[in-house]
Formats: sequence, structure tokens, C-alpha cells
Amino acid sequence: MTLSLHGIGVDGGIGTAVGRIAMLARGSIQAEPRMLHHGNVEQEVARFLAAVKSAADQLRQIRSQIPPDTPPDVAEFIDAHLLMLEDRALIQGPVDLIREEGCSAEWALQLKRNQMVKLFDQMEDPYLRTRRDDLDHVVGRVMAQLTSKDRQEETDEVRGRIVVAEELTPADTIVLHNQGAAGLVTEYGSPMSHTAILARSLGLPAVVGAHGATTLLQPGELLVVDATHGAVLAGCDTGTLDFFRRRIELERAHRHSLLELKHTPAVTRDGIEITLMANIELPEDVRAALNAGAQGVGLYRTEFLYMNRDTLPDEEEHYRAYMEVVRGMGGQPVTIRTLDLGADKQCEQQPELSSCINPALGLRAIRLCLKETAIFRTQIRAILRAAAAGPVRLMLPMLTNIHEARNARALVDDEIRNLKQDGVPIDAEIPVGAMIETPAAALTAGDFAELFDFLSIGTNDLIQYTLAVDRADDSVAYLYDPLHPAVLQLIHHTVRTCREKGTAVSICGEMAGDPRHLPLVLGMGLKQLSMHPASLLEARQQIRRLHWRNLREETRKLLEQPSPDLVEQQVRQLGNTEAPH
Ligand code: PEP
Ligand code: MG
Repeated sequence: MTLSLHGIGVDGGIGTAVGRIAMLARGSIQAEPRMLHHGNVEQEVARFLAAVKSAADQLRQIRSQIPPDTPPDVAEFIDAHLLMLEDRALIQGPVDLIREEGCSAEWALQLKRNQMVKLFDQMEDPYLRTRRDDLDHVVGRVMAQLTSKDRQEETDEVRGRIVVAEELTPADTIVLHNQGAAGLVTEYGSPMSHTAILARSLGLPAVVGAHGATTLLQPGELLVVDATHGAVLAGCDTGTLDFFRRRIELERAHRHSLLELKHTPAVTRDGIEITLMANIELPEDVRAALNAGAQGVGLYRTEFLYMNRDTLPDEEEHYRAYMEVVRGMGGQPVTIRTLDLGADKQCEQQPELSSCINPALGLRAIRLCLKETAIFRTQIRAILRAAAAGPVRLMLPMLTNIHEARNARALVDDEIRNLKQDGVPIDAEIPVGAMIETPAAALTAGDFAELFDFLSIGTNDLIQYTLAVDRADDSVAYLYDPLHPAVLQLIHHTVRTCREKGTAVSICGEMAGDPRHLPLVLGMGLKQLSMHPASLLEARQQIRRLHWRNLREETRKLLEQPSPDLVEQQVRQLGNTEAPH
């Protein structure tokens, strides 16, 4: 009989794995209360410190094994755990408890961990909740040393197997990948958890949040991981196993054929060239963008420069990051978006953001920049300077009215004057653009098209603000509908207006990279798309099968009377009437 468990699929290109289960026991963070006999105290302190050192050595060794093409956040996760192992609170606390109370090392560590968790829990900050998970991973690692149990040693041979665990640390995930694990299944974890992000980057098919996996599944059992649908299947018959094995082969072949498309232009069957650019968040993402054949960066989200730190980045730090991207892209355009903090992107140095009554509608993005002009000017100066080294464009987020648009442009012009006066090399002709992310901006796109050199439609926020649906809130996710007729009309209106005004327009929201929506996006007249690097090759392949003029005609009909009941089906039909290339 087949047993199927469901969770969240993590599909980084290969979404299927078949293999026997290697069950990974959880590194316990539970210790029995145990007091020491007199005289053992300093010996126990030494035992504790030696365990901390071994745990740190082990992490350093794992860090040195990170493959060179692994995203930098992997090393950062491990560094964060190493830092915790050097944290005075975590080390000195147990040492004091051993000396003063005579606790065993394990018991002292657990008491200290419980005390720290209580503090984290009181703060109710989502970031600190992640820190709590990190703390447990680190404590688990030291406990394993104290009890001489190493999680990896408890694992059977991993190569070619599906590793099933309650939870995995980033370090575990790397080690398991290096050891040749075929897939991962965890009881806990969300799509944004460290394990999920890493598994995606490492191309390991995984299902996280598969509750009951460690109790319902048996070590050695044959398991199918269907990450595309977020399912794991045990007890499959040979027919089903063959089906999934064939699917693995097809996925591999598909991935291979996509890679061959890297240098092929994204031209439709009727010869219309579509420009495909990448959305990036860190300078390191340039590599992924280039590997997928990006023709530039259509959106560089710079808020990551401000997050998870106590101080604001200075002009030089901005400049260095931008130069890395400009140089990395080797003469292709780079669109740097100015600070878009607020709502789901919070930072430590701007506490007023967290105290907004409604962060999505409060002092965020351009509003914050126009209030804190010193922060804004610092960033503008760095962008202007980087623009002297390559084709850089400056893009402003979250505009709602033309006055703030003019104020922001005036600040850019002012900094151009200042830097020119100081003889600093800049690009004084830098193209300045705006994101269309609010219904207000879309409906008055004509004013924006006249003021700016280019516009870019940010559908992620445009959908959120048009439909009054928080894009980060699961409970209303069913209402977040990119195909809502109101959203389609706003996008269409923006594109048409830009065409009439002769202003370049592109799209950089997730809709651009979604194969279900790409024909519609093209059909609405968009020819410049920016998306996550992981979507670029697939988009290129799809574009080469489509006929632009036919799509335009089909979309025109669809948009004449977009019916809320039929639109999804109509969009699915777009481009389907034509024979593939
Ligand atoms: C958008 O809103 O569509 C967008 C691209 O910006 P972000 O996702 O960074 O808000
Ligand atoms: Mg946005």
C-alpha cells in the first residue's frame, strides 16, 4: 500500500528523487538534570569547553568543504553558527553554572539555552525566532560532542539515499549534499527556511514540513520525493517507481537542453526579440544571472545592503557593491533600485518602520527616502559614481503621486550637480526610472512616463495594492490573483500609455518569470522582462515557441472583456493554438 505525506516542495530544477531512506536522528538538546560530585568542577568546565571547541572545529571543516559554486549565503549561515559558538552568553553562562551550582556540562548548557529561548520568545520578532532555531542547532551540535554522538555518524550510508530528518541545519544540508544524498525530507521547515533555500540552491529535491515523516517512514524503505508537488510516497509499486525514474531522466534532459539555450536569443517565432534581464539581490547573484544568459540586471534590490546589521551602509560600501555588479555584468545594463525598505523588508536601523500601524501602507520605500534624505542622498551618490563605470540606470520604487516623483528626481539632479562641482566622475545623463507598483501610479502612468526615462511594472506589489491582499500573509494568499481583471487592466493601461508617450516599459514582478503568465505578458506588448535568474532559461525556451503577433491579437480579444470566471482558462489557452517550433 502506498503511503503519501505532504509538505512544501523545494524544486531547484530537478524535482524528483527515488532512493532508500537514511533516517537522521535529531541531535537532542535535552539533558537530564545531573549534579557533580565535589572536585570534578574544573574537569567538567574543561570538558564543556573542549566540546564547544570540537563543535566549532567541525563547523569550520564543513565550511571549508563548501563547493565553489555554492551561493554565499551558505557560508553566512555557517558563520552565524560559528559566531554563536563564540558568544560569551552561550559559553560563559554554562561555565558559571558548572562552577557555581555544580551542574553537569550538559545540564548547564540546557539551562542556559532555556534561559535564552525565554528571552527570544518574549521579543516576538520573526527574525529572533530564526535566531532561536539557530541557537538550538548550535546547542544540539555541542550536546552531540558532550554525549559523543555525532549526527553524521548515526546516519547510514547516505550516497544515493533520501535523507529523512526532523529538521536539518544548513551545515547538515551541505554535508549531505557532499556525501551524495539524492533528496531530503524534513518534518519541519517552511519554504523560506534555511534548509529549503539551500536545497534549492544546491539542486537537491526536497520536501520540507512533511509532518510525521520520521515516525511513519522506515529506514531503508524505498521512497519517492516529488518536490514539484510537495509529496513523498512510500510503498510504491514498480509501475509507479518506473514512472518517477523516467521523470528524473526527463528532468535531467530538460535541464541540459535549457543550459544549451544560454547563448540563444529570446526571439519569438515571428522574429520579435525579447530582452531577458535578471532580478538580483546581492552582487554575488551576478554569477547566476550570467549563467542563465541574462542580458542585464532589470532590478537590483538594494535593501539587502541595509538588513541584518546595526549600522547604515556608507557611500563607499554602496559604491563597492554597485561596482561589483557593474563590473560583473561586463557592459550590460544594470538597473539599481533605490531603497525599498518597509512592509516585509525591515531593518534594524529604522525602528520607525516596525512601529508603522500598517507597514505596507506606511513610511516605506520612497516615502522613507524623502523623509530621511541623508540616507537617500548617500545611495544616490554611490549609484551616480558607479554609473561612470558602465550602463547603470537608477530606479525609484513605490511611487503613488507625481509630487514625490518630482521630489525624488530633484534630489537626484541635486546630487548630480554636487558631484560634478566636486569633480567626481559620474554619469550625469543616467537614465532615471520609476516602478509602477500601485494602482495610483498605474492609472496616472502618463504623468510618470513624461517625467521618467523608463518605467518598470512591479506586479508583486501592484497585485497586493490593487486587491488589498498582503502578499506575505498566507491566510489571504487565495485572494492574491495576478489574473484579476483589475490587475490586467492596470498593466495593460500602463503599457499602452508608455507606447503612446514613447517611454520604455518593462516588467520585473514575479509574473514575468511565471510560465503560466508569460504569454499574457508578451501579449500585452511587453518586450523587456526581468525575472529571478532561475526562471530565465525556461522563459527563453518558451518565448522561442511563441508567436508574438498572434499573442497580441489573442490578448487584445481577451482584454476587451476579461471575465473573472474565464480569464484563467483564456490565459491558459494563449499561444496554445500554434504548433510548436
Ligand atoms: C514588485 O513589487 O513587483 C517588485 C519587483 O519589487 P519587490 O518584489 O522587491 O517589492
Ligand atoms: Mg515592490
